[in-house]
Order: sequence, then C-alpha cells, then structure tokens
Amino acid sequence: MSASSSSTPPSFLSRCLTAVTQWIDSDYCPEGAEKMRNEPDKVDWVRVMPFVILHLGCFGILWVGVSAFAAWAAVFLYFIRMFAVTGIYHRYFSHKTYSTSRIGQFILALWGGTTVQRGGLWWAYHHRHHHQHSDDEEDAHSPHVHGFLWSHIGWITSRRNFPTDYSKVKDLAKFPELVWLNRFDLVVPILYAASMFGIGALLERYAPGLGTNGWQMLVWGFFVSTTALFHGTACINSMAHLMGKRRFKTDDDSRNSFILAIITLGEGWHNNHHRYQSCTRNGFYWWEIDPTYYGLKFLSWTGFIWGLKAVPQSILDEGQRAEHAASIAAAQKAAHVHPEYSALKRVLPAAAAIAVATVNTANIQVVEKIHASHHKDVTELAHELQQNQPPAQQAQSQPQSPQNPPVV
Ligand SMILES: [Zn+2]
Ligand SMILES: [Zn+2]
Repeated sequence: MSASSSSTPPSFLSRCLTAVTQWIDSDYCPEGAEKMRNEPDKVDWVRVMPFVILHLGCFGILWVGVSAFAAWAAVFLYFIRMFAVTGIYHRYFSHKTYSTSRIGQFILALWGGTTVQRGGLWWAYHHRHHHQHSDDEEDAHSPHVHGFLWSHIGWITSRRNFPTDYSKVKDLAKFPELVWLNRFDLVVPILYAASMFGIGALLERYAPGLGTNGWQMLVWGFFVSTTALFHGTACINSMAHLMGKRRFKTDDDSRNSFILAIITLGEGWHNNHHRYQSCTRNGFYWWEIDPTYYGLKFLSWTGFIWGLKAVPQSILDEGQRAEHAASIAAAQKAAHVHPEYSALKRVLPAAAAIAVATVNTANIQVVEKIHASHHKDVTELAHELQQNQPPAQQAQSQPQSPQNPPVV
C-alpha cells in the first residue's frame, strides 16, 4: 500500500462501493484486512444491509399469511440449522472436537452455510478469538465490556469485524474449498432461499391441501426461521455470560443455563464449555441435556464422523467437587441471610428433647390411668354380672372377690 493511500481516508462513495462488493466477495478489502480489523468499532450500514433485509423479510408474513406446514417447517429448519451452528461451526470448525473426511468436511461446511451466519472460517476465527479474550477488552461480544445489545447484535455490524483473519484458522485455511465457501458466503444462503421458494412452489402444485406456496415458504422457511436462528445463536454471546450458574471458576463470566441449552440444542452449558473446550459435549453430566451431542453421536454410528472427544474424568471430578462446595456455601449463606433459621436450628434439638421427655411422662400417666380404669371397669362389670345373675348363681358367686372377677 502506498503512503498516499494510507494517509488519505477513502471517500464515502468508495467505502459504499467496497461494502457492496463485499456482499459478494467478503475477502475484498482494498485498504487491507489488517488495517480494517484495527479500526475502532463503527456500524457499516451498507455492508450490513443483507442482514437488515433478513430481518425486514420477516414482515412478509403480512402478505403471504401462514399455513401449519410453513410454520412447522420454520421450526424444523430452525433446529436442523441450529444443529449446524453448534455441531458444525462450533464443535467442528472452531474446536475440532471430532474428525471427518475431506468430503465430509465440505458437506458440513455447506450445511453450516445454510445458517446464514457467514462462512465457517469467519465463524471459527471470531469464536477462537472469543475464547482467547473472554470478557476482556479484546472480546468482540462481551456483554460486560460492550453491553447487552452490542454483544447480541451490534458487534456483527461493525466494520472491523467483517474480515476473516485467516492466520487464526490456518488448520482450515489449507482447504481451498472451505476458503471459497468462506469468501463467497452468500452463495449457500441464496441457494437455500431459492430452494425454499422452489419447494413451496412444488407443494402448491402437487400438494395443494397443505395450503402453502413459494412465497410463503420463502418467508417462513428462510426469513423467519433464519432470523430466529440468528437471535437464538446470539443469546450465547450475550445471555450465556449473564444468565445461569457458574460451576467452574473460569477467568470469564460464562454460565450454565438450562433454558439456553434448550434454545441452542446444548450450547447453554457455556460455563462447562469455557472450562474445557476440546470435548464434543457441552453438557458434561447425563442430566445436562445436549441434543447436539446426541446428534453427533448418531452421526458417528453412521461412520460420517468419528473420534468424538470425551470429557476427561479429572474435569468431571472437578465439577462434582465444585458443586459440593457450592451447595455448602449456599447453605452457609442461607444461614447468614436468615439468622432466624440458624437460631431455630439451635433451639430445635432442645425443643425436641423436651417434647420427647414430655411424651414419655405422659405415657407413664396414661398407662397408670389405663391400669386404674381397666381394674375399675372390670370390677364394675363383675358387679353388674352379679346383679344380673339368677339368685342361685348369685349365691355361688358370693364368695368371689371383686379383685378376682370371673372370666367372661
Ligand atoms: Zn463465551
Ligand atoms: Zn467454543
């Protein structure tokens, strides 16, 4: 780059043209990607227009209406592509927690491309950077540093975050087919959107009873489902560092959340993941639901992927110890916060002892009363029997003592 070009900032028109070109070729960067990445955060409204259109497209439901088929298709496509975000972009491209063939890797990249979350290398670069700088100044999407809104959606609109730093994903950048998909990252989304329209048009013709059509499937299967998918994924960047519990004392503020785990098919166990990133599962224990891991396990049975990495026993033990310590700390805190409970705990044993002693004493009296009452009642009964007997029997009975009543 010449001295004059580095000292003269590009004009507004030049920047707009660059941004429009980047819609098609995301690696196009005449001023240099490194320089762009070092700029301060600033929203690039032209560059981000496809993302804005994605959201605006959801309003299409006002024109195309809804059918049960289209709505359920949107839900299904959300989860099938959430699996691509978590099982492919995150657990394969970012962390390499399992292996596959080169063709398998390409198929995974195509599947990942349907998520409309840019290329797998861009995704992995930013995610690895996040792990390196979690919740510090360098973290592009820390809610503690940049606030909730920026960590959720703002950071991907910033000019400096658009270029891929291929030096951070050298293991992936050695495959030209992956670099191509990353560079032209609108190709797969456009094909996906077109296929939604095509499927809808075919269903309108061959299965009119479903009540759908091309435009409706485009709106629900692409715009609505993809927008929801983006925000579900973005919850991990924003909410998973704010909401939930911290089992492991990591250097960041990552948390485990059941709700986020459901929305993201297992990514909600984010604190687990920040503690140990190299294993295939994020839910470390059987009760931590992790559908992405179940899906990957299933794929491993087909032979499409292999070498799933387990959670080390030492990490599991560390987690158990942390849980135990946390439960003790919580009990101590509760006693501190509610001192009346701790006073109660001191009083209770004494109260219990008094109660037991009282009951014992009462039992003795009751027994004595029962004995007295029984004796008296039987005596009375004998007397009554005597009164009711015929005179002859009464004469025979006379010698009997009231203390030895006849056996009745
Ligand atoms: Zn995180
Ligand atoms: Zn990760």
